[in-house]
Amino acid sequence: MHSDSAVIFDVDGVLLDLTAAEEDAFFWAFEKLHRLTGLSRDWDSYRTRNDEDIITEILEGHFGRAPSPAEHKAVIETYLAHLTQGIEARRLVPEPIEGAATLLASLGGRTTLGVATANLIEAAAARLAACGLWEPLKDTGFGANGGGAKREILARAMARLGLPRDRIVFIGDNLNDVAAGLGNGVHFIGFSLDEEKCRRLAAAGAQRICNHHQDTLKHIEDALKI
Ligand SMILES: [Mg+2]
Repeated sequence: MHSDSAVIFDVDGVLLDLTAAEEDAFFWAFEKLHRLTGLSRDWDSYRTRNDEDIITEILEGHFGRAPSPAEHKAVIETYLAHLTQGIEARRLVPEPIEGAATLLASLGGRTTLGVATANLIEAAAARLAACGLWEPLKDTGFGANGGGAKREILARAMARLGLPRDRIVFIGDNLNDVAAGLGNGVHFIGFSLDEEKCRRLAAAGAQRICNHHQDTLKHIEDALKI
């Protein structure tokens, strides 16, 4: 759809609630291929919060050298296969954030929708599709693929959109999302169900904060005048 504005969503914490089983699928690949266990589940403990970069960092730590492209690719393929098979078999059940489907439906046809996530886009797509949320987002779907911080991932989405910065809203739940939004000069909405996280988003410079997608819709309409 051609539109003069866009809303780009972070995925985890905004559209989906990242489940432990989904997290396990990522780390399972390291155990399966390299017998690596006990890896940090704190995504902020890695150099860059980006699946591709985290795979590189973990393999570097394990091998004591940079992983080869084939070694890196094997982790990605093992993770994606395990995740998608788990979703198909319903061993993994992605969970939408309350109100996410209604929000996307309310925005449909009024503005371009997309995602900028630190998850591999194939994984995010499979998880969103399982919740019936991928279709409206798929034309502007940007993920960890290609590496880099959220600011760079959002910049790739913006390059695809080709819209003025003030016609774009980005919604995220982490401090790296605030940095991405403010650093790229777009409207930023901080969204979290967690009160303390909302406070941290505000302290980092987020001027619009909400904890329910009814409010997210109001902020989007106000920011974009749609
Ligand atoms: Mg998030």
